[in-house]
Amino acid sequence: MTEELSPLKNVQKQIKNVCEKLGLEDSIYEILKEPERVLEVSIPVKMDDGTVQTFTGYRAHHSTILGPAKGGVRFHPNVTLDEVKALSAWMTFKCGVVGIPYGGGKGGVICNPKELSRNELEKLSRGYIRAIYTMIGPDKDIPAPDVYTNAQVMAWFMDEYSLLKGYNSPGVVTGKPIRLGGSLGRAAATGNGCTFVVREAAKKIGLEINNATVAVQGCGNVGGSAARGIERLGAKVVAMSDSKGGIYNPDGLDPNAVLEYKKEKGSVLGFPGSREITNEELLQLEVDILVPAALENVITGKNAADIKAKLVVEGANGPTTLEANDILVEKGIFVVPDILANAGGVTVSYFEWVQNLMNFYWTEEEINSKLENIMTKAFEEVYDMHNKFNVNMRDAAYMVSIQRVAEAIKLRGWV
Ligand code: NAD
Repeated sequence: MTEELSPLKNVQKQIKNVCEKLGLEDSIYEILKEPERVLEVSIPVKMDDGTVQTFTGYRAHHSTILGPAKGGVRFHPNVTLDEVKALSAWMTFKCGVVGIPYGGGKGGVICNPKELSRNELEKLSRGYIRAIYTMIGPDKDIPAPDVYTNAQVMAWFMDEYSLLKGYNSPGVVTGKPIRLGGSLGRAAATGNGCTFVVREAAKKIGLEINNATVAVQGCGNVGGSAARGIERLGAKVVAMSDSKGGIYNPDGLDPNAVLEYKKEKGSVLGFPGSREITNEELLQLEVDILVPAALENVITGKNAADIKAKLVVEGANGPTTLEANDILVEKGIFVVPDILANAGGVTVSYFEWVQNLMNFYWTEEEINSKLENIMTKAFEEVYDMHNKFNVNMRDAAYMVSIQRVAEAIKLRGWV
């Protein structure tokens, strides 16, 4: 049972398990079990009422062996150092599995952005960059959006860093607005990446994608674009949901119409021709493909036995507990893990950084075709590992990634 472990202990357990499966030396685990460096900072902010409030922030570099650290910054009341460290390790493995030249990083600030004015949020964002300034840079560490940070926050990050440097440095963060060097195709990148993975996985398990039935949990950035993309493959999206609940129509929903409806009404509930279901019911529907694309830990030891899909593609980060993963695999369900299935986002962030460094910008078609190549190749490599070692796809994804990091460690002469 791993569900009660802290996020860091969980990821350490996963690293150890994979090092053993690959027959790697203990020294590789010793190097990878903790981040290379962590910075804790205090950020004083002069609030609108004239008082000063100090916020605690973190930035962790789990690994810079394969390239500069890459990973988002989370503004949330529940941010902890343990979680930031674990998330930085996940970024190392996510970048490694798609073979982009990055290590893993993550940051966070303990705050509730919903209680801050725009002015206070801007001051906090700029203060965070001043505090971690020595740790970041286009060749060192490239932050990006995460929970409750967005393109505007990235614009402030980039501006503050550029002011400190004395010249424009768009390559220091990704997820920026297009006008400041953001990439075309970034908004739909994670969902599009999921779509390529669904297509490839369906071929491998002999699932006819045409008219295959699909349930998508969550219809935000990831779930919305995944639903659109999977429908374009010819599949029938029969269920979608948001935080208020889900909708179901066995004859198929039009994802574009559902997303438009949600934009207008604030929820998918009440979409014409659909019947309301709960988020829990959505997970257990009799469908071919399930895409959890909202929250972590929604498929657990309690409900895994009731999942009926043949293929689960993890759009969200950590939607399946390790215990549930074992149950699904035991039932013969093909599970494509988050570090592969949702790596389209970081891949297009990488394209954004490359374009910033070149000062030469690609069309959306170029972005999507490069994304397709990377996702398809990564899927194939993980699938080969899954067959070669007779392991589940989650272990296989970590094995592909950790093998790459371990090779680099050895070539550098660290062990
Ligand atoms: P988002 O905020 O755009 O959308 C989240 C969606 O989930 C919304 O539709 C919301 O209504 C729904 N939701 C919230 N609570 C829910 C609940 N209890 N039950 C069902 N649905 C609920 O977020 P996003 O960017 O789409 O991210 C979703 C997941 O994907 C997260 O785990 C995130 O870490 C992960 N992810 C996102 C990206 C990215 O590029 N955006 C990349 C990799 C991973």
